[in-house]
Amino acid sequence: MQVVPSVCTFCGVGCGLGLRVEGGRAIGVEPQAGHPVSQGQLCAKGWASGFVVDPGDRLRKPLIKAHGRFREASWDEALTLVAGEMRAALEAAGPAAVGVISCAHATNEDNYAAQKFARAVLGTANIDHCARICHSPSVAGLSRTLGSGAMTNSIADIDEAELILVIGADVTENHAMIGARMLRAQARGARLVVVDPRRTRLARLADQHIQLRVGSNIALLNGLLHIIFANGWEDREFLAYRCENEQALREQVRELTPALTSRLTGVPVLALIELARAYSQARRAFIAYGMGITQFQSGTGNVIAVANLALACGQLGRPGTGVNPLRGQNNVQGACDMGCLPDVYPGYQKVSDAAVRARFARAWGVAQPAAAGLTSLGMSEAALRGEFRALMVLGEELVVTDPDQHKLARALQALDFLVAVELTLSETARYADVVLPAAAFAEKDGTFSNCERRVQRVRKAVEPPGEARADWQILAALAERMGYSGMGWVDAAAVFAEMAALTPCFSAMSHARLERPGGLQWPCDAAHPEGSPILHMQSFPRGRAQLLPVSQVEPDECPDAEYPFCFTTHRLHFHYGGGAMTRKSPLLERETPAGLLFIHPQDAAQLGLHEAQGVRVRSRRGVLETRAHLTDDVPPGTVGMPYHFREAPCNRLTNSAQDPISHMPELKACAVALEPLPADQAPRIELERPPEDCHAGP
Ligand code: SF4
Repeated sequence: MQVVPSVCTFCGVGCGLGLRVEGGRAIGVEPQAGHPVSQGQLCAKGWASGFVVDPGDRLRKPLIKAHGRFREASWDEALTLVAGEMRAALEAAGPAAVGVISCAHATNEDNYAAQKFARAVLGTANIDHCARICHSPSVAGLSRTLGSGAMTNSIADIDEAELILVIGADVTENHAMIGARMLRAQARGARLVVVDPRRTRLARLADQHIQLRVGSNIALLNGLLHIIFANGWEDREFLAYRCENEQALREQVRELTPALTSRLTGVPVLALIELARAYSQARRAFIAYGMGITQFQSGTGNVIAVANLALACGQLGRPGTGVNPLRGQNNVQGACDMGCLPDVYPGYQKVSDAAVRARFARAWGVAQPAAAGLTSLGMSEAALRGEFRALMVLGEELVVTDPDQHKLARALQALDFLVAVELTLSETARYADVVLPAAAFAEKDGTFSNCERRVQRVRKAVEPPGEARADWQILAALAERMGYSGMGWVDAAAVFAEMAALTPCFSAMSHARLERPGGLQWPCDAAHPEGSPILHMQSFPRGRAQLLPVSQVEPDECPDAEYPFCFTTHRLHFHYGGGAMTRKSPLLERETPAGLLFIHPQDAAQLGLHEAQGVRVRSRRGVLETRAHLTDDVPPGTVGMPYHFREAPCNRLTNSAQDPISHMPELKACAVALEPLPADQAPRIELERPPEDCHAGP
């Protein structure tokens, strides 16, 4: 048996694992001893990551839809069809009418190729990926305040923190090894504070749980700043020498007395004062936050409010401190870093900068679009208006994870042409005209970047099933069909080398240098050849940090007489994303086999609803049936559902109202009505599947 060093393919923690290979098959995984992040451990999902490459239901050949059904085809036939349809869409409606949605669990090399294919081959800036619905506000908010949109510190800094403040993140469920590290730090004496409307597992174990009203993050963070300024607890030296705009921030929070903040957030005054004192007076305080901050129409403002708090207290640029967004998918950090966003090239080099555009145009030999492109939700809205013709989706399960499922399904049907690159026939791939079989992480060489900017190698351990290929190889072959020869890389190392040559913060990285266990953290350049575990130690990329006053924005849809419950979405420890990968594991599937509606026992009693009873959940956008789970995880008046289950698709209910800056949809809050089903009636499962005539083909 051979053990091939690799990285877990689920969450953004980036745990090191070894793939056990025997007889050409991946037969299991083991933790990587001495790994800097996972320290020789894995969570339940990590142990099950071998199931991702199980060949059972994998696609082996390209599929072409004809008369509403898929048939197998050769690569030659499939690529010719895709190239022809893409060309036809470009000729009919121009580059604004085509786009690419890249994949946050594919490698950096795949993602670099995806944005290059969009920009150099299709000539469009319409390139995006699922960071749009998780941490696009982090990129927007932290870039504006600190000058860089990533985690400022490393996961290991948790060990050095005196106080750990977790805001809107269910860490033990979603980033289990970070959750475990926080609990170990607490056991050693660190103070652990959780700010969350839900009583998460970490909240139950914390020293303090601040159970704020859903959507009142900015009111809370501004209220804490008021208390800090009123008591002189701010870091005056840090504010004077490293920040701008202090006076405007003081003005913004002047009226937000503890009594008013308490009314706005539902948090008792004494708890507010206790938290403000503890955070500001800790010698080293580490903030971690998640989608409970970002998935609001005020997402960018929420992130800015978090950064304001850390800056005012000087809790940045030192070990054990920082503002640390916990990124979701294993390589969502990398997909952002590689420029799979409509307004930036690799390394966050701005599309709006003419010098940057000129450099990429020279390197790629193609003039570059002058304006930023459409976001993923922008593309689907343009499709519904009849302004968007052809889309390529690489590995994203839009139908399960995007808001307002019915609307998304209508948008996919409105396209002239949809091509999906996938491991299996996912719910989204069912809408496609052509599905191309992709290689999984254990079947190709490349790199992943975890949430602390750590770039690590993954290696080809087994052959892909049938004729499946890496995304970058598929895109290169398609580019050639479309007459572009600038993607003829010999291997993944050559893709990485091209990216590093064009991206200053990766300029001292290469596959050869990344052979070291644990990889390297960007920025990694001539000034930082060994990488950068902590950002902003001496100065911020923009010189001084910018304090930006922000005010409270309520959710777009609040409970009312017709829809009396606040509905929120969350994740579970045993599943990931749309469940396409974790639900292949019988071990994980056994733990939580279906979606549930989490409801407080008081609310359930008023409705006459019992544990596991069927319940109909209705919002202004859709209706579904599921079973009730009675728990005080959620406060009275709020209900929650995990979004991993296609048979309980909570995104049928969610709201696509968007943050005006990052275009993040408000997945964390909408209004619903509940109707218990008769005790003996099972919930009806209606999968949103494309109709027979969807892109029926020839
Ligand atoms: Fe994988 Fe995340 Fe679990 Fe680590 S914490 S083993 S990266 S799922």
